[in-house]
Amino acid sequence: QSKQNGKGCFTFFSQPLFQTANEKRRLADDLLRGIENREFIAYYQGQYNAETHRLVGAEALARWAHPKRGLVYPDMFIDLADSLGVTGEIDAMVMEHALETKQFWADKGLNIDRVSVNVSAKRLSDRDLIPGLKAMDFDPSHLTFELIESTFLDRSAPQVAANIRRLREMGIEIEIDDFGTAYASIVSLTHLLPNRLKIDRELILPVTSSEHQRELVHSIIHIGRTLGIGVVAEGIESLEHAEILRVMGADILQGYAFSRPMTREKFFTHHAKGSRFHVA
Ligand code: C2E
Ligand code: MG
Ligand code: MG
Ligand code: MG
Repeated sequence: QSKQNGKGCFTFFSQPLFQTANEKRRLADDLLRGIENREFIAYYQGQYNAETHRLVGAEALARWAHPKRGLVYPDMFIDLADSLGVTGEIDAMVMEHALETKQFWADKGLNIDRVSVNVSAKRLSDRDLIPGLKAMDFDPSHLTFELIESTFLDRSAPQVAANIRRLREMGIEIEIDDFGTAYASIVSLTHLLPNRLKIDRELILPVTSSEHQRELVHSIIHIGRTLGIGVVAEGIESLEHAEILRVMGADILQGYAFSRPMTREKFFTHHAKGSRFHVA
């Protein structure tokens, strides 16, 4: 084998690759184990009325509470979960956590209009999604599903369109996440109207430095207005971002300037103090 012949060369170039593949395999096994053990929880990030800065909602963001690695972020596991076809199970755990959390806050006197959860294409095309939700005991009018553009506009999956309609009938709101990063088909939007567009932070971040970017974002907000639906802006990192987006007519703001994603306990403390805006 080549291992015996060009040992130094083989070791130098191939071992890192071998380790990477091996690591990926181990992470995959670990992920399936973590799902089995229900190790996924959510952190929460506030969403605020653009005019008043009042807290109106919270986005639940998946975190893997790993027994050895500590807290693992979505960029480490969502793509892998997608490739293994198990993202829907993570989504479901996060949704349960979010519904519990809304009640946890309400019991302490912190009432918000809704919680938002991210829903993968996998979960949205699941035939059991609607029956599963209907079997649960919760108020659907307090729940928003965030779908990325590609999921929302996927015409190859008829189950997706059917499920979106049924979700809307149940009272669950639909928001298009990361809007502006994929293929924004206005025609598809008019066929299957969401409740809100959520403009991606890649588009929001440069508005403080570029007139061109401001115009771009303004035109997206105008599309929302024309369709008669709400507009959310994520990636609000400064008061200046918040002010620009308010003037341009965004309805809801989310970003580090208001609050970072945090545990539900910290979220409660943060908002119970009445603190809304945190700019360094
Ligand atoms: P997303 O849904 O667009 O979530 C917003 C991401 O932006 C979060 O990263 C959040 O921490 C980050 N963020 C919020 N405000 C700011 C800001 O002001 N500046 C900057 N630079 N970043 C900000 P996170 O929690 O790492 O999540 C990353 C992505 O992972 C999410 O993007 C979503 O696509 C995916 N994800 C998270 N949880 C779930 C889940 O339960 N299910 C599914 N399917 N995907 C999830
Ligand atoms: Mg989201
Ligand atoms: Mg987003
Ligand atoms: Mg995003």
